[in-house]
Amino acid sequence: MSSLNLTTEQQAHLRAATPQLWLNPQYMQDQAIVATPEVDDLYAAEARLQRFAPLLEILFPELQASGGLIESALIDTQQLSTEFAEGCEGRLFLKADHQLPVAGSIKARGGIHEVLCFAETLARQEGLLEAEDNYTTLNSAAAKAVFSRYTVSVGSTGNLGLSIGIMSAALGFRAEVHMSADAKDWKKQRLTDRGVKVIEHAADYGAAVAAGRAAAEADPYGYFVDDERSPHLFMGYAVAALRLESQLQAAGGRVDAEHPLFVYLPAGVGGAPGGIAFGLKMLFGRYVHCFFAEPVQAPCMLLGMAGNASDEPVSVAEFGLSIDTEADGLAVGTASQWVCDATRNLISGVYTATDESLYRQLYRLKALIDTEVEPSAAIGCLGPELLEGDAGKAYLQAHKLEDLMGNATHIAWLTGGSFVPEEEYKRYLDKARHITGA
Ligand SMILES: *Cc1c(COP(=O)(O)O)cnc(C)c1O
Repeated sequence: MSSLNLTTEQQAHLRAATPQLWLNPQYMQDQAIVATPEVDDLYAAEARLQRFAPLLEILFPELQASGGLIESALIDTQQLSTEFAEGCEGRLFLKADHQLPVAGSIKARGGIHEVLCFAETLARQEGLLEAEDNYTTLNSAAAKAVFSRYTVSVGSTGNLGLSIGIMSAALGFRAEVHMSADAKDWKKQRLTDRGVKVIEHAADYGAAVAAGRAAAEADPYGYFVDDERSPHLFMGYAVAALRLESQLQAAGGRVDAEHPLFVYLPAGVGGAPGGIAFGLKMLFGRYVHCFFAEPVQAPCMLLGMAGNASDEPVSVAEFGLSIDTEADGLAVGTASQWVCDATRNLISGVYTATDESLYRQLYRLKALIDTEVEPSAAIGCLGPELLEGDAGKAYLQAHKLEDLMGNATHIAWLTGGSFVPEEEYKRYLDKARHITGA
């Protein structure tokens, strides 16, 4: 562990599970990078989603308004910034991925893109796409007959399973989701209702992924979505940056040398926040500052980013942590090595937060703007105020940003929640009320 870029004090915070903002010493250090995602692949992913849009509009009526594109709103909190983040300057936007249609979480971006990649490859191989540009022919008995020979599988704590399962089943694939013991019952039920096979594993997320990978390797008609190493997932997530650019423009949110952009991204295994950060860095370069956010009990990306190029990411277990968090999607013990190797020079820092503070933010979102999210999604709202602390100030100083903060745009990425059943959300809110004393 001596090779981790962590001070003794930072290591102590990790062990004690106390919140901190860790600044990445390898930020903008190009030698930190081993895997280099191609910007062409980002534009290819966007084009693929456009090609499939007419088909998705047929398969999912809720996509009619957007012409088959899966996108979320950018919410301007306007004067609410101060209540979300005391002392925070600039504008605070919320990226509403908790309302992403079809899958109800940020996983709709990456997971659905990967299933579409597989479907497109198969459809071309099997001659199902006579007219290159008419993907609605994939909504046919002939296409379903081909797709139903294949099983798409994934290991998931819940949300990735929903995204992969729902899209696979809609196209006619057989679908299997390997779930960890901590996955919520309502997520399992939602999948079972759609004809997706749910396989439960007694152990944690990493074990569910390993079991799913092994089962798929043994099946010649099996396709495994590997959350720990998937460029297709990554690029599906990265498309969010292109969409965000035009939303920011429309909202008058400038990003340039005088107008810094700060983005706070909840991180699990790293694909979603890594992909989005990659896309944003391609578009805005050093004017965008990306921070990852994790529960104190599962700081796997912090440990992954603190390693050096090509290092196998260190597990949170080595710091005596047990992944004991209610933040679904973030309850991951080991980061994706591929994502770490691809984004280590792009990420400004990683902060950790207690579950209690997530519930406080969950309560604020409900009370201030009537927005309902799951606990994991609330973590991004803690970002702006962290910049007011010692580590945050050091970052602003190092990058000569102190005098520009009045012009800053902050984006807290809300990542999941709209599928949470009413009773379940009510339990979250009751707990949040209890914690805040409201
Ligand atoms: C999966 C997930 C994330 C993080 O995505 P990773 O690719 O695992 O880092 C964040 N929020 C929610 C709600 C998620 O489901």
